[in-house]
Amino acid sequence: MADIDIGLLVDFHKHATRQGPGSARETQKAIELLGISSQIPLKIADIGCGSGSQTMTLAQNITGTIVAVDLFPEFLELLEIKAKEQKLHAKITTKACSMESLPFADNEFDIIWSEGAIYIMGFEAGIQAWKRFLKPKGFLVVSEISWLTQQRPKEVEEYWMKEYPQIDTIANKTRQLEQHGYIPTAHFVMPEYCWLENYYGPIQARIPDFLTRHNHSQSAQAHVAIELEEIRIYQTYKEYYSYVFYISQKR
Ligand code: SAH
Repeated sequence: MADIDIGLLVDFHKHATRQGPGSARETQKAIELLGISSQIPLKIADIGCGSGSQTMTLAQNITGTIVAVDLFPEFLELLEIKAKEQKLHAKITTKACSMESLPFADNEFDIIWSEGAIYIMGFEAGIQAWKRFLKPKGFLVVSEISWLTQQRPKEVEEYWMKEYPQIDTIANKTRQLEQHGYIPTAHFVMPEYCWLENYYGPIQARIPDFLTRHNHSQSAQAHVAIELEEIRIYQTYKEYYSYVFYISQKR
């Protein structure tokens, strides 16, 4: 695989409403599964928030405050604009920093939320590192790429072992949560429309403009080829993997 040009990656994804598969409906479903009272103000961290599509849903549905964290200030600027437009900015603050060195205190949060991002540091490292920031009985909600079957065709197995060797079955991801001091309370598989309509469709629509902006440079074309290959793999093998939402509680 060609080396990833981070500047191009950010440019490609910042012109989007979301930077990973998902939907407001699935975020809301995960919120409902927490079973929390909407009256008590909670403190929430949204890690790897991107331009904040799930941040807005959290702010609309949960009483309390949200710290939205992303490595790239470009995404946080877009999030802040969106928050102001939706009059949610009083509930949201942003922090540009890495998920691997979060500047938070022990037991600071009632909820740690992270959609389509924990893979960046790796699921197991992430659930271990973030646990101390949660209050006892606090909730961890993450979406993580997972196998849906015990066996799968060689091509998809090889693709994901190269892209993200920590991909694993739901049973194994759940076991890791248990092993690292969480009680898994629920999980659900992200439906197809979250990938195709909400993520890959808009990606395909953005490609011509992206290539024009970068004068069809070799690295821009290489980036597009990576995106198209990911889409092809999903379209061919979507019955074998998906993002899965894992909801668990710190013991
Ligand atoms: N939650 C958003 C974005 C998911 S994409 C959504 O579902 O739409 C992953 C996000 O993680 C991107 O916004 C990317 O900028 C961010 N990211 C990448 N490396 C990071 C790091 N080391 N620390 C924090 N965020 C990071």
